[in-house]
Amino acid sequence: PPADPCCFVVFGASGDLTHRLLVPALYNLAAAGHLPDAFSIVGVARAEMTTAAFCEGLRKALDRFATRPVDPAVVDRLLSCVSYVSGGPEEPGSFDRLRDRLEVIEAQRGTRGNRLYYLATPPTAFVPIARALGAAGMAREEKGAWRRLIVEKPFGTDLASAQALNRALLDMFEEHQIFRIDHYLGKETVQNILVLRFANGLFEPIWNRDHIDHVQITVAETLAVGRRGKFYDATGALRDMVPNHLFQLLALTAMEPPSRFDATAVRRAKAAVLDEIQVESTTEALRRSVRGQYAAGRVGDTEVPAYRATADVAPDSTTETYVALGLEIDNWRWAGVPFFLRTGKALGRRVSEVAIKFKQAPFAMFRHMPIEHLAENFLTVRIAPEEGISLQFNAKVPGPSIAIDGVNMTFQYRDYFDAAPSTGYETLIYDCMIGDAILFQRADGVEAGWRAVQPFLDAWREVGADGLCVYDAGSEGPQEAHDLVGNHGRRWRPIR
Ligand code: NAP
Repeated sequence: PPADPCCFVVFGASGDLTHRLLVPALYNLAAAGHLPDAFSIVGVARAEMTTAAFCEGLRKALDRFATRPVDPAVVDRLLSCVSYVSGGPEEPGSFDRLRDRLEVIEAQRGTRGNRLYYLATPPTAFVPIARALGAAGMAREEKGAWRRLIVEKPFGTDLASAQALNRALLDMFEEHQIFRIDHYLGKETVQNILVLRFANGLFEPIWNRDHIDHVQITVAETLAVGRRGKFYDATGALRDMVPNHLFQLLALTAMEPPSRFDATAVRRAKAAVLDEIQVESTTEALRRSVRGQYAAGRVGDTEVPAYRATADVAPDSTTETYVALGLEIDNWRWAGVPFFLRTGKALGRRVSEVAIKFKQAPFAMFRHMPIEHLAENFLTVRIAPEEGISLQFNAKVPGPSIAIDGVNMTFQYRDYFDAAPSTGYETLIYDCMIGDAILFQRADGVEAGWRAVQPFLDAWREVGADGLCVYDAGSEGPQEAHDLVGNHGRRWRPIR
């Protein structure tokens, strides 16, 4: 069904995110009939621009970034809803003018005062914009109209800054109005982890330390840092990927069953499991982590210069482009089950997956049989490149004698469902419009994520370049990451 009548107000309207992802996502929602009839899009940025020029830019963005061939009639209808307002939070009176413009637009379009404010700006502008919205009386929900704020990551750069950001946003908005986006949660397979676990009688009874040997969560990128040196050198793989994307995957995999499928219960269960990741000291953090930086190499056919030779990266930078962690979740279900996480740039193959390794069967009865290749029982939820789920198990090789070989049972989304390619933002924008916060992060979940990575940040700051490993671009990451897993008697799944 179409969402509530509303006004989509995007701050940072002249930026990359708006053009590359948000507008194509709005197009997809419009094409699927999910946008309300009473709808408007108001772009806000500091630059002076006419609505006509802004629309022209959006049209070009759709030509370039739409995920499917566009229908000109849908584009015209979408762009007929667009207005552009220039202004910035530091400019006196600018948000009062914005409020007055919005009220006129709302009256024309019949959007009933419902507003979705999307912060598609650099993080430094999040708090100033939230404050300016509050000061202009635009944050309050009144006369039955809702006001919701979508905040893009990063939600802080460590625990203290995440807490400060949450406090500042909560000065102006209430928690139920704040939708912190992690676009990983817009991916079908990520949501499917919940369905796989809780809508099937098969898996949940064995989803615990009695049957699961360990879990591997991998987000491997082939992309190098390229032109994002300035941002990346101040951020690193841990901050960029772990407290948000990797921990979302971990939380969905490891959380206790929520009592209801609603935002309160699901997010409570996710935050609780992140709180159970215990790393007590910086020494323990060093023992449980490996960080690496790529040297020059070749990814596919592309020559990749060393990270330290990348534009806007310090030549003696100690920022990690790869991180592997061996974590434990200190609760009844998971005691003694290692959770291995790894993510990195300029690796040999792009793959995002959660792989659950079940304990080995006692093979005594097959001891004398010819074993071609004994499969480990991995249940793998693949997020990229091909969304799907596969189960690796052992089967008998055809023939007169009993020989065993590993085989794969694979479900691929595209074989069963006819899902059109999407940006990943469609579900999230739509859910915000209908007020469903299940796929958004709550303040406690964000802080629990940062609390769990803080010991690693502290430990690495203390030791500086000590322990920073090197790996070749195009490889599987540093050897030390293999040792991290090998020391537990396990091995990583290959990412070649
Ligand atoms: P961008 O291309 O640099 O655009 C930033 C936008 O914010 C511009 O419209 C800019 O316009 C406005 N802006 C800049 N400084 C501002 C300020 N102090 N106050 C108000 N507005 C300001 O950045 P982006 O790549 O779109 O990223 C925006 C946000 O999305 C970031 O938080 C980023 O981490 C997140 N994000 C981006 C992507 C992506 O693919 N691009 C993906 C995930 C998350 P004016 O200067 O005219 O105001």
